Amino acid sequence: MVINFNFTSAPCTIFGEGALKKASPYFNRFGKKALIVTGKIITKAGLTSQVQNMLSELGIESVVFNDLPGEPDDIMINNGIKVYKDEECDFIIGLGGGTPLDSAKAIAAMSVLPGKLADYAGKEMSGAFPPLVLIPTTAGTGSEVTKFLVFTDTATDAKLLLKGEDLLPDLAIIDYNFTISSPETITIATGMDALTHAIEAYTSKRANAMTDMICVDAVKRIFENIKLVVENPQNKSAREQMSLAAYEAGICINNSSVTLVHGMSRPIGALFHVPHGISNAMLLVECLRFALDGAKEKFADLGRAIGAASYSDDDDKASVSFLYALQDLTMALKIPSLREYGIDLEKFENSEEKMAQDAIASGSPGNTCKIVTKEDIVSIYEILRKK
Ligand SMILES: [Zn+2]
Repeated sequence: MVINFNFTSAPCTIFGEGALKKASPYFNRFGKKALIVTGKIITKAGLTSQVQNMLSELGIESVVFNDLPGEPDDIMINNGIKVYKDEECDFIIGLGGGTPLDSAKAIAAMSVLPGKLADYAGKEMSGAFPPLVLIPTTAGTGSEVTKFLVFTDTATDAKLLLKGEDLLPDLAIIDYNFTISSPETITIATGMDALTHAIEAYTSKRANAMTDMICVDAVKRIFENIKLVVENPQNKSAREQMSLAAYEAGICINNSSVTLVHGMSRPIGALFHVPHGISNAMLLVECLRFALDGAKEKFADLGRAIGAASYSDDDDKASVSFLYALQDLTMALKIPSLREYGIDLEKFENSEEKMAQDAIASGSPGNTCKIVTKEDIVSIYEILRKK
């Protein structure tokens, strides 16, 4: 078989205990004043001041922008751009979960590019963006090593996926100690997001030899550790493994993309404000049940890798065993149904056509190793609604 692929990631990643300190020699090249894009909870947990102290030791000034009340939208991002420009900052640090990291990318890009964010849907965002440093405080989104950002366009209520190689950060700093203060709900949501990334990238039409190796490793690590971090949030070794898995899964989607689950998840997030990782987890089993026969051997590999199937099992048996293991995991983590989450099911039913349209338009379902029609997507939304 011929092997060829393109493979990109953040040019420099510093991973491990004390990573922020180890990264300090890199900062002076970025400029004299930083905008720190973060959340109020992160600031309260003392993580923002850790970064600010490190910067001030280097003689770098910083301004904090933490007015990010939910998942990113164009209004929050425009506010951030204004602070970046008014304060005459030189570079941007994103510190937090997916919202601050994606917002930092958007602020960096739109401080240079003309027009509005939604204009770049379906195009490559490129330009001489200010230097960008990303520091995750959750083990999940992988945004610190991807060329993607997701935001809600308030004009259309659609969650849009934007991309561009220039959105990759100049430096990613990953220290699992920054994830230890994550509350249980965030740990579960982000961990399930990372798992979804690894499974989707492995079973994507765009999978390649490099990401295949990394995806399987990420899926194994998450199956072995996600329940451990939920049972004991202070379990350092399990936190470290989850941070590594989320990083691996981020590299995988950066190169092999996501598929049906993410395509269907973004509209649920946009219209019903379900956190990204939870809407993925709600969809995971039903979407993969649909996708299973398109990439049976890949799902079977995952079943064997996590020990849900044995190496003597054929692909039919091993792939179904993987699905059962996923089902058990979502039950153990008490992933709610739409009904249990409190979603207005009548409004959901009335939105299924629009959500299916938006899912197809995002391009992600097209990466699934099976033809996915709008009707297929509506049917999966319907199964979810009736659970
Ligand atoms: Zn995701």
